[in-house]
Amino acid sequence: MMRFTGKAAVVTGGAQGIGRATSLRLAREGAVVGIFDLNRDRAVQSAADLSLDPEVIAAAGRVLAYSCDVTNDDAVASAAAAFARDAGGLHILVNNAGITRDELFFRMERSSWDSVINTNLTSMFVCSQVAQSYMVGQRSGKIVNLSSRSALGNRGQANYAAAKAGVQGFTATLAIELGRYNINVNAVAPGFVATEMTDATALRVGKDPSEYQDEVANRTPLGRVGTPADVAASVAFLSSDDAAYISGQTLYVNGGAR
Ligand code: NDP
Repeated sequence: MMRFTGKAAVVTGGAQGIGRATSLRLAREGAVVGIFDLNRDRAVQSAADLSLDPEVIAAAGRVLAYSCDVTNDDAVASAAAAFARDAGGLHILVNNAGITRDELFFRMERSSWDSVINTNLTSMFVCSQVAQSYMVGQRSGKIVNLSSRSALGNRGQANYAAAKAGVQGFTATLAIELGRYNINVNAVAPGFVATEMTDATALRVGKDPSEYQDEVANRTPLGRVGTPADVAASVAFLSSDDAAYISGQTLYVNGGAR
């Protein structure tokens, strides 16, 4: 089933982790994907690797790379214009780029607060505002925002929890405002997913990443941690017309964890 043939999708932070898996999933179903990522070399390499995937080739999908800091208005506007020109439009936006700067609240520096809010939340304002200008003209579009289970509160993540909870309110509001233009806006809130981000978290608390994953798996009802592909499948669903009557929702993808 090729749900994204003829669709042009931007995936922010698409060069690794959940964003890379999402880029692969969309391209395997026929999309032209634009990876918008900070690290130019990694974005170019990822796009080249994903373009060689046999399922992407069979689906006539394409993956393109754009070096872009998603917190920078001018960089986002010019990358979006270049992508829309290269891909023939902009139909799907996956606001995935994110960072953590974990610290107990009493020790958290203002700079950590600002950078996490900027990268995880303000970037969605910037990218969605640019994307909606294309989508309103087309009278259709899908926006999927990465929230997190941490939105419900998590020790050492006052900045990240605030940003990811903000993502959910932002999502619900955009769904109300953009629905009349046939634009669906939803969020996905993963639990623990094995990526470079969570490997770095493990190392920061002095644990081996695979032992850390085992600990999380043991307290997760489904008995394992999430994979980037698990999250990509939900993002793809919400980006597709299978979810045509779903908007303003947050889907928790967390193996049943609380
Ligand atoms: P990764 O750290 O593995 O990947 C994030 C990507 O985003 C990196 O390529 C990074 O580039 C890029 N990025 C960071 N800042 C910017 C920026 N300003 N502009 C453009 N690109 C940027 O993260 P994950 O794949 O683990 O997470 C993806 C999303 O899912 C994030 O929003 C995260 O908060 C969320 N999430 C992740 C969970 C997990 O357990 N992994 C759980 C819940 C939510 P660079 O490396 O160069 O900084």
